[in-house]
Amino acid sequence: DYFSESIKQAIRTVPDWPNPGVQFRDITTVLQDRTAFRKLIDAFVHRYHGQQIDAVAAVDARGFIIGSALAYELNAGLVLVRKKGKLPFDTLVEDYQLEYGTASVELHKDAFRQGDRVILVDDLIATGGTMMAASRLIRRIRAEIVEVAAMIDLPDLGGSQKLRDEGLAVYTVCS
Ligand code: 5GP
Repeated sequence: DYFSESIKQAIRTVPDWPNPGVQFRDITTVLQDRTAFRKLIDAFVHRYHGQQIDAVAAVDARGFIIGSALAYELNAGLVLVRKKGKLPFDTLVEDYQLEYGTASVELHKDAFRQGDRVILVDDLIATGGTMMAASRLIRRIRAEIVEVAAMIDLPDLGGSQKLRDEGLAVYTVCS
């Protein structure tokens, strides 16, 4: 559609990075293109404009870039879902599986009020493990996830479907 075609064209696919066989979707080329970056943020703003959104929860680190601009435009708060060990106050932690080993995401315990309506945002959904762990954190504080949103979906990896199977609404700009 109007938003996705020009954004898609601005994504750079880097073969064999960081490991052989991986086709890495590089979004720096979207961010540095003023037209593509504006359309990217506008796609999310257009989707949530007029809804009551209390906070945007953004995933460390590329999710912060999108989440920050989106929160500003929606007049919502910005909550950081961080890699473990970065947040200074009392936290909740969720571990999840990577292809090799595990990772953890962390959230301040007082990041939301009960019933807050939240958009969870990151740059990309691959296996969905990161978004799944982040959504568990938000639900533990009993905030309401209105939608899980990302710029890019890699549907062949099944992550967005897994999130939908958990009852989460999922929106992605490009796939
Ligand atoms: P998942 O947990 O869904 O398997 O992986 C998604 C997470 O890994 C996101 O936080 C995303 O930033 C990162 N990621 C995995 N593959 C890529 C990729 O090809 N491009 C970008 N930009 N991020 C990726």
